[in-house]
Amino acid sequence: MVLFIRTAAMVLMVASLAAAGEAPGGRGILGNQASPHVKLKTLDLDDVRWAGGFWAERFDVVRNNMLPAMWRALENPNNGAQYASFLKITGRGGDSLDTRVLNWWSDGDLYKTVEAMALVYASTKDPALDRRMDEIIAVFAAAQEPDGYLSTPIRLKGAKRWQELNNHELYNMGHLMTAACVHCRATGKKNFLDIATKVADYLYLTFQPRPRELAHFGFNPSNIMGAAELYRTTGNRKYLELSQTFVDMRGSAPGGSDQNQTRVPLRKEVEAVGHAVTAMYLYAGATDVYGETGEKALRDALDRIWTDVTARKMYVTGAVGNLFRGRSRRNDNVHEAFGLDYELPNRLAYAETCSNIAHAMWNWRLLGISGDAKYADLMELTLYNSMLSGMGVEGVDFYYSNPLRRHGDELPRVVRAQDPPLRSLVLPCYCCPTNIARTIAGLKNWAYAKTEEGLWLNLYGAGGVETAVAGGRLALAQKTDYPWDGLVTLTIEKAPAREVSLMLRIPAWAEGATLQEGKGPARKVAAGSYAAVRRVWAGGDRVELRLPMQPRLVAANPYVESARNQVAVMRGPLVYALESPDVPAGIRVSEIALAPATPFEERFDKSLLGGVIVLEAEARVRPEGDWRGLLYRTLRPEPARTARIRLIPYYAWANRGMSHMTVWIPLAE
Ligand SMILES: [Zn+2]
Repeated sequence: MVLFIRTAAMVLMVASLAAAGEAPGGRGILGNQASPHVKLKTLDLDDVRWAGGFWAERFDVVRNNMLPAMWRALENPNNGAQYASFLKITGRGGDSLDTRVLNWWSDGDLYKTVEAMALVYASTKDPALDRRMDEIIAVFAAAQEPDGYLSTPIRLKGAKRWQELNNHELYNMGHLMTAACVHCRATGKKNFLDIATKVADYLYLTFQPRPRELAHFGFNPSNIMGAAELYRTTGNRKYLELSQTFVDMRGSAPGGSDQNQTRVPLRKEVEAVGHAVTAMYLYAGATDVYGETGEKALRDALDRIWTDVTARKMYVTGAVGNLFRGRSRRNDNVHEAFGLDYELPNRLAYAETCSNIAHAMWNWRLLGISGDAKYADLMELTLYNSMLSGMGVEGVDFYYSNPLRRHGDELPRVVRAQDPPLRSLVLPCYCCPTNIARTIAGLKNWAYAKTEEGLWLNLYGAGGVETAVAGGRLALAQKTDYPWDGLVTLTIEKAPAREVSLMLRIPAWAEGATLQEGKGPARKVAAGSYAAVRRVWAGGDRVELRLPMQPRLVAANPYVESARNQVAVMRGPLVYALESPDVPAGIRVSEIALAPATPFEERFDKSLLGGVIVLEAEARVRPEGDWRGLLYRTLRPEPARTARIRLIPYYAWANRGMSHMTVWIPLAE
């Protein structure tokens, strides 16, 4: 009852923040409308609609399947993240809680869940979801300590504040700040934001003096992005100062480690090192800081690191963080980390779903500050492949690691205890599912951007957009079956009476793409760029973009030993995989080889894996014979034959029980 009165009172008190002029950054996921060094501004959360396409289907999966399932997990006593921790310290129950199971970063996963709910609410305006969020936020508020600090594991496990890096206090409070900003932008309410400003005021008092003993906090710096968004939401420069302090402090005192990017200050760094999630959150947060300050030394460091990742340390799926456990070049112990140059194992790829998502988040921000299509390419590659592979097609089970090869039961893929051989709903570490949910729920906000020139199309998807541009409002409908089909048709519904550009992303793989305005001639547009169409538009005007979608074979730099003499198959933005259910009985996945000129037959299979285009081909079979008990033997060539195989999108692998799978396939002579 108390809860109800509190909620009702809040509803009465709430005023639209935008109307009150209190959200200078606007109402996108990234509130960068007023950021002086961000070129591409985000749209408001409800400017874009998905309708009936690939991302619309996945948005519905999040809304209908994933969120309800995740709440079952968050209320399961064996799950790493537990809502019971908040219930317990606020005297509301939580008797099932086992603090030995509870992760230090559990709070952060709860906040990401509410962020996902807020992003679903932004599209659906579902009042039940709004009420549920208010109930949860009231519990968060009750759990907050009087000085603003908030960490339920610290209190429940009997630990002291700021004693141990791995206690994830800043990670938790960082996600709180981000989720609160998104909630405020989605609902116009300040109930969550008020908790966040109290957290940030506490953190400002604690960190602004830059105490040496806290130089290496925190382990996983979601707090940089969180404080930057809080600045953008409130306009209070103190929070920008806090965000920059978090960047500046890392590596500012001796005793740091490559594991969490504290051995070398970011501005002096020359390579991507250490834990891949903490690295990507640091780089993404620093890009947000750059968006406000325009500091060249920061930008130069980020460029160097980006080149290191993309030229030497990234999987063909866009995944990052190959190494489960090892040493950095500077000889620090690292885990779940970037490895050495070109060290990209397939079976033992760690490639945590969170690091892949964070890689996409970083590239989204780099796209924002530059308008360079190369960042959008990587963002899309990662989202379609190594983010989506983290979830089952039904959206109710999840992977933590995303390997590129599996040998079935004979050689299980487990690289650490929290990686079950098949995806699972309840996990001992719950960071990844909540990250997938918030990313897919908010993806329509990634799809478009705007500048003074006009509207930018970063990701294609059926639906439409209506947004304010210079001179008035622009609305258009988008018809497409991307990524299955390369035709994108845009129809103008509303436009200002002045010239506006449509900036259409032409992916780097789309050699031969064409663009046609109305009934005019189709013209070629350059792959790896944004193609501009600038004119005064009238309702009913049409633009057609045709992206060539024929399958292609991709090779790796010869230094990548795990991919030598092998190829990956791609079609559009999708990486394909060969999985044992798609190989004739009696033939192993590892016996299949592809000739360079293999023709593929494409077929849309509505009933398979949620509806996918499969690629069928005649492949070579190179029998391996029986290797039981043997490590080496004299080569005995066996007669080659052929077999009909079928490839599926990599993101849909491991939905048909325990299987063998590979992304890289040997090249047949
Ligand atoms: Zn994760």
